[in-house]
This record gives sequence, structure tokens and C-alpha cells, in this order.
Amino acid sequence: NPIVAVVGRPNVGKSTLFNRIAGERISIVEDTPGVTRDRIYAHAEWLGKNFSMIDTGGIEISDQPLLTQIRQQAEIAIDEADVIIFVVDVENGVTDADEQVARILYRSNKPVVLAVNKVDNPERRSDIYDYYSLGLGEPYAVSSVHGIGMGDLLDAVIKRFPDNVVNEDDKSIHFSFIGRPNVGKSSLVNAILGENRVIVSNVAGTTRDAINTQFKTNDGQEFTMVDTAGIRKKGKIYENTERYSLMRSMRAIDDSDVVLVVLNAEEGIRELDKHIAGYAHEAGCGVIIVVNKWDTLKDKDHRTMTDFTNLIRQEFQYLSYAPIIFVSAKTKQRLNQLPSLIENVYNHHRQRIQSSVLNDVLMDAIAANPTPTQNGRRLRVYYATQVATEPPTFVIFVNDPELMHFSYERYLENQIRKAFDFSGTPIHLIKRQR
Ligand code: GDP
Repeated sequence: NPIVAVVGRPNVGKSTLFNRIAGERISIVEDTPGVTRDRIYAHAEWLGKNFSMIDTGGIEISDQPLLTQIRQQAEIAIDEADVIIFVVDVENGVTDADEQVARILYRSNKPVVLAVNKVDNPERRSDIYDYYSLGLGEPYAVSSVHGIGMGDLLDAVIKRFPDNVVNEDDKSIHFSFIGRPNVGKSSLVNAILGENRVIVSNVAGTTRDAINTQFKTNDGQEFTMVDTAGIRKKGKIYENTERYSLMRSMRAIDDSDVVLVVLNAEEGIRELDKHIAGYAHEAGCGVIIVVNKWDTLKDKDHRTMTDFTNLIRQEFQYLSYAPIIFVSAKTKQRLNQLPSLIENVYNHHRQRIQSSVLNDVLMDAIAANPTPTQNGRRLRVYYATQVATEPPTFVIFVNDPELMHFSYERYLENQIRKAFDFSGTPIHLIKRQR
């Protein structure tokens, strides 16, 4: 998906515009415990074109002077986005800060669409011509609060999307490392590339400056490591902020078949780890939990790994399907197992189960543990079929979906998982009345 970033001074209405464009798309698909909502990243659509949006104003770079913060937000937008919406406020006229940001954006050569916000009534429209002085082309009058001018603005935005050069025969498995700062993502990226020397190419990301690296393992399987440029090219001030790492993780999730959630064995599990893992789960991609810096734990015995595993299972209950691997980017311990693990998860994520076999499993499950009743009515399960992959999605036809108690649904999912290997992938069960 192309990325659209929204930049501008505080209070010009960035978030309002962001929410207006993302609309109800922001709303929660599934509620993973411990995951609070962020409004810095959202999916949106206009005229059939899907894109992702970043509100750079939500990435606060603490204790920097305001102007520095705004400039850094502009830099994030330039680094991350395909098109930038620069928001100014018609009530203030052209300010110094606006001019500074405009200069940075202009120099970047990124497509910029200038939105003059708070044009709530027609008399104000003539004021927008002052903004030609910013040198960013035609100003678009909008009122984010009232939803005025959105169509023209979005037309201008999608017109500037890069031509999609999606490689149709790209059969490689797309994966990425995600996690909070300093867990060792860059080190893992470099170590993996060191292990797999048959690097096919550094392909420019299809829609932005991201560099994906393709490599092949000895058995000929191709992999694409997603968006490693941002991880490897480090050293920016905002690099270590929580919001930025969240935003990056969300982007990587969008582009990956399988994500590797990296934890730091030395520091244990933090809130932000859960937050990031929650997004991976909700996105429905394949998930592997990678515990890095395993070399830092001294005097390990046979219980160390079991204890850490139990802790992970307890803290990330919704990720019970994700395999866990303990590695060290430093000593390279177990890194050679990663490609085959990724490949396995990828295959499970795309797995299709024949309806006849699936129904045998369900009928056996029901025979072993009868369906629940509620107010004297018994749940009847007629038939199930797989309707999608990535992630595997099953429709179960029943007499009344209300009768499917949460715990019984969990039971059926577990039975399906026992019969077929779905490790590393979520599976979705949809109940339909028949
Ligand atoms: P990122 O922010 O997640 O990309 O983390 P980095 O890859 O930059 O690593 C952060 C720090 O942890 C660096 O000082 C690395 O040298 C160190 N580090 C990374 N992986 C390991 C590891 O497996 N073992 C040890 N001991 N240190 C590591």
C-alpha cells in the first residue's frame, strides 16, 4: 500500500483530518487485551485505491523545542511516505513555521499536497491564495471538522501515488523483524544476511524508498526481508521513540506474510512488546516470537527456557499459536533455523483443508464433547468449510450463532489445530446461521 503522511504545526487540525480520511476504518476489528488503540496509523481508501496513513503529529519527540519537533515530523514523513499532506490553518495565515516546513518538504522532492484547513465557510476561500507563496503548488481548501473539500484533496493525493510496479512472479516469502528499540532487530537483519550469502538483489520497495532484500536459502526458497533500510540506516533522533517503533512495526506488518516479534531476553517483556505483538496478531499474519540476546543470560539450566516460555505464554495469551525461538544475533545461536521456521509458518498460513476432512474432524470433536445448550436450546453444527487462506478462515454453519459459547468455539479451534498443523498462524472461525 502507498503511504500518506500528514504533517503540520500543532492545532492546525492534522488529527481531525486524519480521522476524517480514515473514517470508520480506524475502528477495532478485534479487541486484543492489553492493546490500546493508536491513531497514528490507519488504513484508508479513496475511489478504490487503498493506502495507509501516518499522523506524524502523533509521534512526539519529547523535550525538543517545538520547531525542531515539527521539522523532525517532516523528516519522518519524507522518509516514510509516498505522498505528504501538509496541513496549514487558514486562521493563522502563513507562519514562519509553515515556511520552514515547506522548505524542507520542497527540497525532498516528495509529492506534497497542501491542505488549507478550517475553511468552514465560503467567504474564507479567497484567503487560500496566500498559500501559493509556500511554493508547493495549488492549495486545497478543506474543513476537516465539516468534511468539506475532502474529495478534491484526496483526488490530488491518489493522483500522486507512484505507479505500482508489483512484481507478479514474486513468489518469495515476505517477512520482517518488528519490536521495540534495541531488542536487536538491526543486528538480526545483518546476521541473517551474513548467514545467507546468496543475496539475490536489493529491490527498491515497490511504492517507496524502502529497500527490501531478497535472498535464497540452499534449498532454493526465496525470501524477501521487508523494509530493512529503515532498520539499518539508524541514528535519527526519533528512531528510539515508542510511537515511531509502533508505526514502523505496523508498516512492516502490512507488507509481510510472516512477522518476527523480537523480544530482548536481557530485559524481559515490556508493555510496548505486548502492544506491538497485539498488532501483529490482529493483522492476521503469521507470527513467530524471537527471543534475542539469549547469550546474555548466564548460568542457564534446563529450566531457563521453560520458564521464559511460560512467561511469554502468560503475557501473550492471544499468541498461543506462535512458535518461540531463542536466539542470539551476537553468537548466531539458532539463527540458521529461522528460514525454515519462517517457511513453515508461511505454509500453514496458506494452508487449505478439504471440506470432507475438516467435517470429519468437527464431527469427531462434537461426538467427544457435545455442543452446549442455552435456555433448553442446543447448538447444532451442520457443516464447515474453509473460505479463505492467509489467514485460514472457516465458516461454520449452525442453527443459531448465539448458541456458540466462546469456550466451545475455543474448543473447536483447538481440535482443528490438533488435527492440522497451523502453528504460527491465527485461524478465524465465522459462524453463520443456516
Ligand atoms: P534494534 O534497535 O532493535 O535494531 O537493536 P540493535 O540491533 O541496534 O541492537 C541494540 C543493541 O543490542 C546493540 O548494542 C547490539 O550490539 C546489541 N545486541 C543485539 N543483538 C544482541 C545479541 O544477541 N546479544 C547481545 N549480547 N547483544 C546484542
